Amino acid sequence: MSKRHRINRREFVGGAAAAVTALAFPLPAFAQAAPRVVVIGGGFGGASCARALKQTEPKIQVTLVEQDRTFVACPFSNNVIAGLRSIEAQQFGYDKVASSGVTVAAQAATGVDAAARTVRLADGTTLSYDRLVLSPGVDLRFDALTGYDEAAAQKMPHAWKAGEQTLLLRRQLEAMDDGGLVVIAAPANPYRCPPGPYERACLIAHYLKTKKPRSKLLILDAKDTFSKQRLFQNAWKELYPGMIEWVSLSQGGKVNAVDAATNTLITDFGNHTAKVANVIPPQRAGRIAALAGAADNTGWCAIDPVTFESKSAPNIHVIGDACIGGGMPKSAFSANAQAKACASAVATLLAGGSPAAPKLINTCYSLAAPDYGFSVAGVYAPKNGLLADVEGAGGVSPADTPREFRAREADYAQSWYATITAEVFG
Ligand SMILES: Cc1cc2nc3c(=O)[nH]c(=O)nc-3n(C[C@H](O)[C@H](O)[C@H](O)COP(=O)(O)OP(=O)(O)OC[C@H]3O[C@@H](n4cnc5c(N)ncnc54)[C@H](O)[C@@H]3O)c2cc1C
Repeated sequence: MSKRHRINRREFVGGAAAAVTALAFPLPAFAQAAPRVVVIGGGFGGASCARALKQTEPKIQVTLVEQDRTFVACPFSNNVIAGLRSIEAQQFGYDKVASSGVTVAAQAATGVDAAARTVRLADGTTLSYDRLVLSPGVDLRFDALTGYDEAAAQKMPHAWKAGEQTLLLRRQLEAMDDGGLVVIAAPANPYRCPPGPYERACLIAHYLKTKKPRSKLLILDAKDTFSKQRLFQNAWKELYPGMIEWVSLSQGGKVNAVDAATNTLITDFGNHTAKVANVIPPQRAGRIAALAGAADNTGWCAIDPVTFESKSAPNIHVIGDACIGGGMPKSAFSANAQAKACASAVATLLAGGSPAAPKLINTCYSLAAPDYGFSVAGVYAPKNGLLADVEGAGGVSPADTPREFRAREADYAQSWYATITAEVFG
């Protein structure tokens, strides 16, 4: 006998609940049962969306499919690499998500049948849905840089998914002798957390300055400009003079290949052999997005900016890093904001209504040192089929400002992390 088990509407709701649901959702399709939404990915986007759906309309049957029992958050993981924080401060479970009425399936989703509206799980279970939300985050493209595959990442960690990789990079820095060269390879846009490589450079430099002051840090970049560039470069001069060197794309910074055996990064302009090499490769939407037919040939998912519904896969919505967010950066803040707007749109669509255009906010804090922070903020709204910057809204921290201001922003960053993780997982 097959282990496959289809969870159908009758198993989710009994007759009385169905009668109540019929009043709230008078559409013929939902006359007999509560609508079912499956959310794949229990990170900042998916867990937020699952909870927001339940809050918006408790009658919706929400199942959150997440492959890991413990989520390890990327924001503040650069502090772990720099020895300023423990990995435990990054870890979250799903008990509170479950107690808010969401069914948590601790399984990997292995396939989506968009025509039949079903999701297949690794244990053979099949879940039916009326609407599916995908928030699988990113996959690292192990086919993009010659020589950089999963085995090479054990030697030259990316640390772009928090957890073991974060700890590996930390251990390598601890083991390095004073005077060693650390190299960070930063990818071209778009990728998860645009300011992340430069914050990482700062916090690693903070560790080196404190413990291994003769060491140097080289950033090899596949682009000519980057997020909060002026603020970062000012901070490098002010806090770590002579320690950090940035090589832009046009100066030959793009890494094309690596040799993991010798820790060498290869560019068109020459080779760099590192004591510690942090290779952040190009990325794409988590694989399930392609399996669902929602990813295009860029590897990311085009969406309707009002509903977050995929432009290629009907009834499937994509949020967070996996979607093409227009002007919105791939951040936890964005994923959480998109999750709430998407939950509202999905609930409205299930009730037969027309979702209103959302206005979304993102703020990304970066730390140049534990007591030195700055931020970029933006407001976004649908325009010409994309989420576009609302002109005149948002901005970056001032370039010239007293250190107390930087210290306050570092405190705001901590408060933001406490608030968002409490909202998503607490
Ligand atoms: C070093 C670093 C620092 C960062 N700092 C910040 C910051 O300061 N502020 C900020 O806003 N953002 C920051 N980010 C970015 C932030 O981490 C991501 O943008 C955010 O996690 C995106 O949310 P998401 O829901 O799209 O993906 P994730 O949070 O990665 O969640 C995806 C989830 O989906 C699960 N999943 C994937 N595929 C499947 C499947 N097939 N079946 C079941 N489960 C699946 C994964 O296990 C994972 O739990 C940082 C990132 C990095 C790397």
